[in-house]
Amino acid sequence: MAELTIADLAVDYGPVRALGGITLSVPSGSIVAVLGANGAGKTTLLRAVSGTLRFHRGRVTAGRIALDGDRVDGLPAAAAVRRGVTHVPEGRRVFARMTVAENLRAGGLGTPRAAAAKAAQWVHELFPVLAERAHQRAGLLSGGEQQMLAIGRALMADPKVLLLDEPTLGLAPQMAARIAQTVRTINAAGTSVLLVEQNVAMALSLASHAYVLEVGQVTLEGPASELAGSDEVRRRYLGET
Ligand code: ATP
Repeated sequence: MAELTIADLAVDYGPVRALGGITLSVPSGSIVAVLGANGAGKTTLLRAVSGTLRFHRGRVTAGRIALDGDRVDGLPAAAAVRRGVTHVPEGRRVFARMTVAENLRAGGLGTPRAAAAKAAQWVHELFPVLAERAHQRAGLLSGGEQQMLAIGRALMADPKVLLLDEPTLGLAPQMAARIAQTVRTINAAGTSVLLVEQNVAMALSLASHAYVLEVGQVTLEGPASELAGSDEVRRRYLGET
């Protein structure tokens, strides 16, 4: 369990400013949601935290990111994982040609053996289907199963903070609800969660606090229950008039 704090974070992709000074925090043991339209900068925020920005030609140009007070910005992705920050990217990105078991093993590569063994047990408890399909190629799994695998792979690194990018995107409602329930279970077991989610109603039902991003700026934030009741949020994101 750990607290993630982000202060005045600015990110550029070459000449394009994607984040213009974002401040937010994920208190230890909480679920915090980030909402916003396409292109608002949600994915960029998660990439900056996980150290994967450089794979997309992006660069942190200002600000600080800290885990329990220790700076983690500027770390390579593998080092961020070792510090306890793991990112489940949008679109799942499982290794399609590898088996389920190989995907999970890859997630635990930098993890001490005992912690990885414990994590594997936890992943199979959360997602029994991953044990049943251990020897199947990941690319043959359904979308929901691939999302389970992507989350399972991230859990293999025994994270303190899980960054989830649109985990229910493209899933049938029943599967989306299952994934949401699993996010709750993972959080209840002690992992802080920073959740980017296009399903605003679901995100607000999971999170304790939420931030709305617009063109790289936080324009609204508050307790999730308050945002769920806000006329502006209901109109803009929940399709109500
Ligand atoms: P989506 O839900 O569509 O992923 P988002 O809120 O996650 O949207 P980002 O993907 O973070 O938004 O994009 C923020 C801004 O940065 C957008 O203007 C986008 O065009 C730009 N951007 C994202 N990735 C790159 C990149 N690799 N190179 C240049 N610009 C980028």
